[in-house]
Amino acid sequence: MLIDLSEVLSEPHKSIDEVVGTEMKEVKVNGSRFPVSRTQPVHIHVEYAGEKKLHISCETSLTVIIPCDRCLTDVPTDFTLSFEKQVNTALADGEDDGESDEANYIDGYHLDVEQLLYNEILVGWPMKVLCSEDCKGICSVCGQNLNEGSCDCEDTSLDPRMSVIRDLYKNFKEV
Ligand SMILES: [Zn+2]
Ligand SMILES: [Zn+2]
Repeated sequence: MLIDLSEVLSEPHKSIDEVVGTEMKEVKVNGSRFPVSRTQPVHIHVEYAGEKKLHISCETSLTVIIPCDRCLTDVPTDFTLSFEKQVNTALADGEDDGESDEANYIDGYHLDVEQLLYNEILVGWPMKVLCSEDCKGICSVCGQNLNEGSCDCEDTSLDPRMSVIRDLYKNFKEV
């Protein structure tokens, strides 16, 4: 979704207050693709803020499906985005003036809504996603999801205390 900025940048300056849809279907983070399962209309407000400068505020929320760190089950993860930006359109292609952020979401006289949102999603991307705090993960031997049932493998690697004891035992035998 592109928003035409020419009226805000021209004389007399008109502000933009729009609610737009987004076509965001997935986000790419660290080379992996994550599906976007829910989007909401995006409320965008753009105002003239001095010579070639714009003040942008944006509000929306969306849900991204991120696999659980331990068991890989899909976890719908909500992102509530509400932010403001000051951008210098004159610098969109080049250097930074220190006060505006680099505007990879400004393309000529257009504001790329998806790119703007994407930047914020990256900023808020969780370090770790778990389906539940006490997720048991998957068995490293047979791949069984241990939240759904146990398996017969004698793998103790999930319990660090057990592996310490096992290592001690192994060393003892080798001596
Ligand atoms: Zn899990
Ligand atoms: Zn197993």
